[in-house]
Amino acid sequence: PYDVLIVGGGPAGAAAAIYAARKGIRTGLISENFGGQVSDTMGIENMISMPYTEGPKLVAQMEQHVKEYDVEIITDQRAVGIREGGYVELDLASEATLRSRSVILATGARWRELSVPGEQEYRNKGVAYCPHCDGPFYKGKRVAVIGGGNSGIEAAIDLAGIVEHVTVLEFADSLKADDVLQRKAESLSNIDIICNAQTTEVVGDGKRVTGLHYTHRATGESHLLEVAGIFVQIGLIPNSEWLRDSDIKLSRFGEIEIDERGATSIPGVFAAGDVTTEPYKQIVIAMGAGSTAALSAFDHLIRTPDP
Ligand code: FAD
Repeated sequence: PYDVLIVGGGPAGAAAAIYAARKGIRTGLISENFGGQVSDTMGIENMISMPYTEGPKLVAQMEQHVKEYDVEIITDQRAVGIREGGYVELDLASEATLRSRSVILATGARWRELSVPGEQEYRNKGVAYCPHCDGPFYKGKRVAVIGGGNSGIEAAIDLAGIVEHVTVLEFADSLKADDVLQRKAESLSNIDIICNAQTTEVVGDGKRVTGLHYTHRATGESHLLEVAGIFVQIGLIPNSEWLRDSDIKLSRFGEIEIDERGATSIPGVFAAGDVTTEPYKQIVIAMGAGSTAALSAFDHLIRTPDP
């Protein structure tokens, strides 16, 4: 069995692997891929100490750093269940079972997509999912935010301070965001809010987004909105479906509930990064959380006899 088994190869998993291996304990990392969401990212400007980097480059550096240590990396494998039984047992889709004295869950999350024509083609070319990450790329430009829930209205308020103008498109006939956020957004002169708006297509010039088409659901009329950027804010889905039948406690949004040490509801099982209740989903935060979880796992190991 492993001393620490990490599930997920994004920034949280990579950081956990390095921190665990540096304790000289038997460390494994299983994941569907190495890099996680960072593999899908182009420009990154908030990786502290690197004013600018790109996703694939950061992934290569993370992988190289993990490989400096004695970590057993198993990729192309998906975890499908976790059980407690002396050791923690992790079931894989391949039907193998791995055993470990402690486990760190770092399976991340994925942005809910619009699923309209043009969205995939213009991903990272005007279609964005993270205002903290990509907002400054649209300085002085017109953008749209799709989604009028808390994250959409927070994004609109955030972007209004950077870009020239923000149009919020909400599918329903009213916004779902908290009143205080709605009032703040309404007070800003460069935010327009359109309800009953169904986005139907992302359009561009072949290189970058130039706008989007939406249908007004009440009138049935179709409109073209000219924007340089489209921030899709219709939900971040934690990759925790596989834990639903386990004893790991999830929040009502499906996020793994953790305490300040990264501990979950199963002793010896820790979690880190975007799959958890951590409110801010960012690379440096996931790396910090992965490090915390590994130190907590080590702390658990030195206090718990080997079964
Ligand atoms: P993830 O990166 O999601 O990694 C999860 C890992 O778990 C993956 O390797 C996945 O394959 C694996 N996995 C999932 N389920 C299973 C399973 N059942 N079994 C085995 N393995 C599994 N943040 C910034 O700080 N700056 C940015 O500029 C930035 N830009 C972004 C741009 C885009 C387009 C996106 C999508 C995100 C961006 N983010 C950015 C957010 C950042 O990428 C995430 O916060 C960060 O990657 C979270 O790390 P994580 O390790 O928790 O999860």
